[in-house]
Amino acid sequence: MNTLLQKLQDAQNSQELEAFRIEGLGKKGIITQKFSELKSLEGEEKKNLAKELNEIKQKFEAIYWAKKSQFQINELKTALLEEKIDVSLFQSISHRSIGHPISYTKDRIIDYFMHLDYELCVGPLVEDDFHNFSALNLPDFHPARDMQDTFYFKDSMLLRTHTSPVQIRTMETQTPPIKMICPGATFRRDYDLTHTPMFHQVEGLVVDKGDKASFANLKYTLEDFLKYIFGNVKIRFRSSFFPFTEPSAEVDISCVFCQGNGCRICSHTGWLEVLGCGVVDEYVFEAVGYKNVSGYAFGMGIERLAMLTCGVNDLRSFFETDLRVLEQF
Ligand SMILES: [Zn+2]
Repeated sequence: MNTLLQKLQDAQNSQELEAFRIEGLGKKGIITQKFSELKSLEGEEKKNLAKELNEIKQKFEAIYWAKKSQFQINELKTALLEEKIDVSLFQSISHRSIGHPISYTKDRIIDYFMHLDYELCVGPLVEDDFHNFSALNLPDFHPARDMQDTFYFKDSMLLRTHTSPVQIRTMETQTPPIKMICPGATFRRDYDLTHTPMFHQVEGLVVDKGDKASFANLKYTLEDFLKYIFGNVKIRFRSSFFPFTEPSAEVDISCVFCQGNGCRICSHTGWLEVLGCGVVDEYVFEAVGYKNVSGYAFGMGIERLAMLTCGVNDLRSFFETDLRVLEQF
């Protein structure tokens, strides 16, 4: 027993310490076994041994915890020193990097549409109810308005839940034809593997006089865009519902991880949803006072595209500002 206490005292690191703890107090440890011998004893003998064993156990645990906390402090110090980044050091090795995957993906999307003469528009992050909801045909009872999803301020001001209000603001101040995209941060009350309270979207809007802006134009543009982002993938349009477009569609690409054969990431369907789109609803044009026009709109999550093109599976790692994550790109 004394040798064991001595061994514990001389342990050089947490692995050794843990091994000696198991030797003493593990399921088959020396002290544990001695305790089980108590069952076969009686009276004074039992009492004396129990007292002795409890004292040993206390001593053993006191040494164990003192050593353990000492090792933990030392290990933390070593880790901090090893991982410390000295920003004053001259960097002689140059790393080629794409930068942050979100900025990289956003820039690629903007590049594509700028080449097609789309105008780059921005709008406020704090929006009013009209621009974020009402003008987009999101009536009072729509679930997206739920307190669960939206961050509200006083006087029905809110953090925009999508970049669509920028489309409304652009239509209010310009006359057709319009070709615009609006990239930017958006906010919803959500946090798990695939949701963060702040995320980024890019939305696009095309409005033209008469019936010039058709679903066929939209389909051609998005197919070409998705080939530009993902290379040679299959693309399909699935009919869907959005309050601000009619007809509406969700667009899938063949899974980039299994080439459409089915895997865990595509839930064994072979397809990945990448964006939503549709022909702008008449109600939206009415809200901004447009007449005799046609238009289409599309929207996508930048994080989603970045995850698929850069092979990142936890959305949260984009926001942890850990250099080790960024260094991988
Ligand atoms: Zn797959």
